[in-house]
Amino acid sequence: MKTINKFDFNNNKAIVRVDFNVPIEQDKVTDNSRILAAKTTIDKIISDGGACILMSHLGRPKGFDNNLSMSKIHSEVEKVLNTKVILSKDIVGDDAINKAKNLSKGEVLLLENLRFHKEETDGDAGFAKKLSQIADCYVNDAFGTAHRAHASTTIIAQFFENKFFGSLLEKEVKSIEKVMKSGENPVLAILGGAKISSKIPIINNIMDVVDHIIIGGGMSFTFIKALGGKIGSSICEDEMIPTALEILARAEEKSVKIHLPSDVVCAKEFSNDAESKSFDIYNIPDDYEGMDAGKNSIEAFKKVVLDSNTILWNGPVGVFEFSNFSNGTKELGNLVAESTANGAFSLVGGGDSVAAVKKFGLQHKVSYVSTGGGAMLESLEGKTLPGISALSN
Ligand code: AMP
Repeated sequence: MKTINKFDFNNNKAIVRVDFNVPIEQDKVTDNSRILAAKTTIDKIISDGGACILMSHLGRPKGFDNNLSMSKIHSEVEKVLNTKVILSKDIVGDDAINKAKNLSKGEVLLLENLRFHKEETDGDAGFAKKLSQIADCYVNDAFGTAHRAHASTTIIAQFFENKFFGSLLEKEVKSIEKVMKSGENPVLAILGGAKISSKIPIINNIMDVVDHIIIGGGMSFTFIKALGGKIGSSICEDEMIPTALEILARAEEKSVKIHLPSDVVCAKEFSNDAESKSFDIYNIPDDYEGMDAGKNSIEAFKKVVLDSNTILWNGPVGVFEFSNFSNGTKELGNLVAESTANGAFSLVGGGDSVAAVKKFGLQHKVSYVSTGGGAMLESLEGKTLPGISALSN
């Protein structure tokens, strides 16, 4: 892996693909963590005596859209990087070319929103080539878009001899490898969330590397029904019952231990204020639906989590958005944090589990929280991400 630490950027202009796709409300950036996440890479280039040309997308514009102009995040970028940032009015036009040409050592230039040009998402080689011509080397630090073969994330790399993994991209890739390739046993995957159908490629891929899988949340009911349980009105994908049985059989063949919840906190309606009652997960009355992992389930999961040396967590084990049904996910998060404090490596990634650890203030108590939703899921499915292979070729 060619990382930025292996290169001296002195007198080099680096074009850096960052992920500055931050939320904006009333012209204000409401969460600057993605800008912050790119700071290590930008600081390294600048402190070497290089210059940075930053490029990112912002939202999903169809052509120019003033509300999604980089001018909306310019001051926040300056604040986070603690330096003046020159703003370009375009991407591959005269303004970008001139400003890049006049860029001195230690200076930072921010190009306009890449997705104002359709060529970006089309992965257009001519557009990528033009982008490449304003810089001496290329750095990709945008894990969140590494699964897309866009002009700035993938296609551009072929025009550079010197191309590098930024420090965020390096951390993401190494964290995934630490679970999928070199995880210290026992390796545990905790899978939750609403639907089994969206997790099947992950389950199939991780089966070869894990020792245990905890299956919780909405997706567990398809397994329980497949095993003959009465799941009341809990969510269930009936068409996936044969797949659930196949997964259980494959796990047994491979000596992977599957842990399902034993009890569940249920409600008569899908609402935070609904009256709740716990039931054996195999015997839920018809008018109740399962909403959260019960106390006995968490107690049983406790030993597995604390005994594991490597933990991957994807998906909540209950409707954690409702405070009255968030306890199972919170307690499981606390156990992952405890196991991490005892020396386990823990990776939390993919959509809602990230939101859950943040909600419960556990993001600094696990080893790594991934910044990429789709990119993380595709990595766990075993796919090679185009943005990553482009840097290696
Ligand atoms: P996913 O995106 O597939 O990881 O699903 C995450 C969503 O699953 C969250 O919004 C949770 O509220 C939801 N979820 C977890 N457990 C349940 C459940 N028992 N019933 C309905 N939805 C659930």
